[in-house]
Amino acid sequence: MENGQMKIGVLTSGGDAPGMNAAIRGVVRTALNKGCKVIGIHKGYIGLINGDITEFSSKDVSDIMNRGGTILHTARCPEMMTEAGITRAAAIYNILGLDGLVVIGGDGSFRGCKALAERGANVIGIPGTIDLDIACTEYTIGFDTAVNTGLDAVRRLRDTSSSHERCSVVEMMGRDAGYIAMWCAVAGGAEEVLVPENKGTVTDDMVIEQILMNRSRGKRHNLVVVAEGVGGTVKLAKKIQDITGIQTRATVLGHLQRGGTPSAVDCMHASMMGYLAAMDIIEGKKNRIIAYNRGRYESLDLNEALSMTKKMDDEYYNVVKLLSI
Ligand code: ADP
Repeated sequence: MENGQMKIGVLTSGGDAPGMNAAIRGVVRTALNKGCKVIGIHKGYIGLINGDITEFSSKDVSDIMNRGGTILHTARCPEMMTEAGITRAAAIYNILGLDGLVVIGGDGSFRGCKALAERGANVIGIPGTIDLDIACTEYTIGFDTAVNTGLDAVRRLRDTSSSHERCSVVEMMGRDAGYIAMWCAVAGGAEEVLVPENKGTVTDDMVIEQILMNRSRGKRHNLVVVAEGVGGTVKLAKKIQDITGIQTRATVLGHLQRGGTPSAVDCMHASMMGYLAAMDIIEGKKNRIIAYNRGRYESLDLNEALSMTKKMDDEYYNVVKLLSI
């Protein structure tokens, strides 16, 4: 607090995600509207450790909602995983005189929030990751845009693999989680999907057997979705071609899925979550994670939120199989 005026910090950390800019705008405009100062911290935790900051005006966040990436830039910061780094980050938080810090990022970034909270900082997390792999929330900013990018690729690949009667194997991002791949498989009508969550249960041999069965039933093209966390996409494509004799092509989408104009869903959640995070600080709430569950936004206790676990519903895979006959 400076002369009775609250000071709110905001940073983006970890992997970038479409919609992070809309979340920054939500935080900045809410805080300014309520008479607070807003400090933007560049490049995630390393910017906090180095005191790499700028004060935000309302105009600084004009025309950013429709842009992917993050105007604050983001980084992975190994220093934050050390005692010295965390202590320094907490010290800079105090020197800046912040009443609260909004961290927009994934579960790694939230572990950084916990470390800062344990050293007296007030930290509010906004789930920003394309991977949807944060247990305490049903939605993470960036997921919808990344799925739509993946689905667009699936549809294009389906056109060409259908024309040439080929098999397409397409790899989706998602780190250790298979949500993007699974959604693209269900929504894109894939014949098979390999995700970390069904690793060991669904094998390469089962995929090949399915393709052979599809051919015997007269199906002339096949689409197989593979999650980044399973990998081996090029090897799998070669194995399918070698064993079945069906021409098979591998496509790895990679970082294409991180960029692009954020969808309406992402801009909506990001704006709401940015607003709610700023309001938590203004209302004196401490150490929270903003979440979206069962159709409602929630502000959860940081420690409780980080102790939650979630599991992918088996039904998704069953639906891929049922609908791909
Ligand atoms: P994401 O936030 O997208 O999951 P990362 O897992 O790479 O991305 O985490 C982003 C950053 O969060 C890391 O580079 C590090 O600075 C910080 N972080 C991750 N884990 C911890 C931890 N256990 N303690 C403190 N900071 C952490």
